[in-house]
Amino acid sequence: MLTQLHKENRPTVSLHTLGCRLNQAETAIIARSLQQRGFEIVPFGQPADLTVINTCTVTEQADAKCRQAVRQTVRKNPDAYVAVVGCYAQMAVDTIRQIEGVDLIIGNEHKLRLYDFLDENLHKNGQPVVIHSSKISREEFVIESVGLYDTHTRANLKIQDGCNFVCSFCIVATARGPARSRQFDDIMNKGRQLVHMGFKEIVLTGVNIGTYDQDGKTFMDVLRGLEAIEGLQRIRISSIEPTTVSRALIDYMADSPKICRHLHIPLQSGDDTILKSMRRKHTVDEFRDIVEYAARTVPDIGIGTDIMVGYPGEGQEQFVHTKKLITDLPIAYFHVFTYSDRKGTTSFKLKPKVEHAVKKERNRMMIEVGQRKKTAFYQSFIGRRVRVLFEEQQHGRWYGFTDNYMRVRAGSDENLKNEIRTVRLVGTAGDTLIGDIE
Ligand code: SF4
Repeated sequence: MLTQLHKENRPTVSLHTLGCRLNQAETAIIARSLQQRGFEIVPFGQPADLTVINTCTVTEQADAKCRQAVRQTVRKNPDAYVAVVGCYAQMAVDTIRQIEGVDLIIGNEHKLRLYDFLDENLHKNGQPVVIHSSKISREEFVIESVGLYDTHTRANLKIQDGCNFVCSFCIVATARGPARSRQFDDIMNKGRQLVHMGFKEIVLTGVNIGTYDQDGKTFMDVLRGLEAIEGLQRIRISSIEPTTVSRALIDYMADSPKICRHLHIPLQSGDDTILKSMRRKHTVDEFRDIVEYAARTVPDIGIGTDIMVGYPGEGQEQFVHTKKLITDLPIAYFHVFTYSDRKGTTSFKLKPKVEHAVKKERNRMMIEVGQRKKTAFYQSFIGRRVRVLFEEQQHGRWYGFTDNYMRVRAGSDENLKNEIRTVRLVGTAGDTLIGDIE
């Protein structure tokens, strides 16, 4: 193992993440563990002794992007020791094995222990080492007790992994294994560490975080526990399944000064026959009820969702149901995904398939609706004062987010990184609100 690392000659590592926030959180964990063992982290794209690519397999496009990222890395940096880890590595070992220049492939169960599997001298021998178990254990929540590292102003905190739901189109549940939750005390300790490191906002991440269940503690207990941490200012719930959003959760959000007024609740379709075929656990009415209750109960809440178009059997009528539902509901923004067949999913065998051109057109129409809704939501705030956590500066302007997830831009000569300021909103530019700092 790499135990004899000297400060003056530290090996370098660059890391790249594809996919979701949970993957980002896990890359941060891998980065930190390598840092603790003497590696120096350099930006991705720069020459490095070791390159880690943490992959995603949510769609076939995601798979293609992973292969492209690996190939580009090998081409640009042929001497680097290349480790490909994560969801795509879990699902496509044989494909990745054939990409020349890959040295290590690690599936999801062991990826956070990447360091243990590295060649002592980062020596490339032309044959990748594969660390992979086809069945991911239910028993263990695989996370090392390392410190935290995050390159963003908002820190991702992983509280859960895996999923026991069986949505017909989803490969993620297979790639990440059964649902398991992180120890409650471990979450609280990490939360305190993050605050100690200066983070003001924590984003709770996982595959199906609303199903958190550990030693009798629920997702609500996690929220209450984190809320009690002194110095923490914002707790953001990342994507959460509709059936796990209770009225009690919404009531709690309404009363809490720290829980961000933001819910991202995946819908997928606004038609009950499609939802049933997708094996989603909610109906259209249930989804409508949650969204309307949240909008009534939590003033100014930003509600987002995911929509899938072109699922097998989605005719014009079903598509129109989805379009109407999403247009009518108080949804601030949504992401549109186009269904594509994935081997290994139940929907792979379903018929009739929707023609490519029709899927493309539905995608375009939904994106248009999404843009209109987002603009209307943003414009309804013009003239108001909001609190913004600033994250980055671009071309002399500062960008950040409100707690209800609106992107805001403001000019300032001060260094506003990780600062929360009051901003008076005066207009919009594309998908950003423009404001003046008070
Ligand atoms: S809830 Fe459904 S879509 Fe989400 S990870 Fe679980 S199976 Fe996949």
